[in-house]
Amino acid sequence: MIQNVWAVGRNYAEHAKELGNEVPTEPMIFLKAGSTTTLAAKEIHLPSWTQEVHHEVELALRFDDNLQIEEACLALDLTERAKQNQLKAKGHPWTLAKSFKESCPLSPFFPVADLEELKKLDLVLKINGEIRQKGNTSQMIFSLEKLIDYVRRHFPVVPGDLLLTGTPSGVGPLQRGDHLEAEIQGKMKHSWNVL
Ligand code: MG
Repeated sequence: MIQNVWAVGRNYAEHAKELGNEVPTEPMIFLKAGSTTTLAAKEIHLPSWTQEVHHEVELALRFDDNLQIEEACLALDLTERAKQNQLKAKGHPWTLAKSFKESCPLSPFFPVADLEELKKLDLVLKINGEIRQKGNTSQMIFSLEKLIDYVRRHFPVVPGDLLLTGTPSGVGPLQRGDHLEAEIQGKMKHSWNVL
């Protein structure tokens, strides 16, 4: 059972711009409950109360027993964008927009011998065969080491926690019936059907 999902917002400049946000000078971290994760499932169940769930494909790192990184996976940081915009405008917390049920689908994990091997990889999300999100991990504003240090220094990270490292541009709404294919170059591919 994953306890916490530490996630960084706006870690790719093009995505920050597409949502009208400034490019940050310090990591902007938010929390998704660990119980939002579904591991290696083939289906995504959209919540019944909204039509505005956006996909955000991300590289996720897993903290091991020594709070080092030895595994990673693909994650979808599903986001209810309409609520997020309303809550943001009021200065309220985003929990409903980011931490609803099944809001963090994960691929299986793959081993990471050295963080260096994750630093220049294409990260792609296709929907119904069409590329919707594409970026390269070299475009991250904050490096993997910086993000890891930052969350370990400020938060009660425990073994098994995940760190979501941000999404490239191209986010948009999911529809029931969509077929999603995510890939982190040469490491992992995973697909989901949206119900
Ligand atoms: Mg995200």
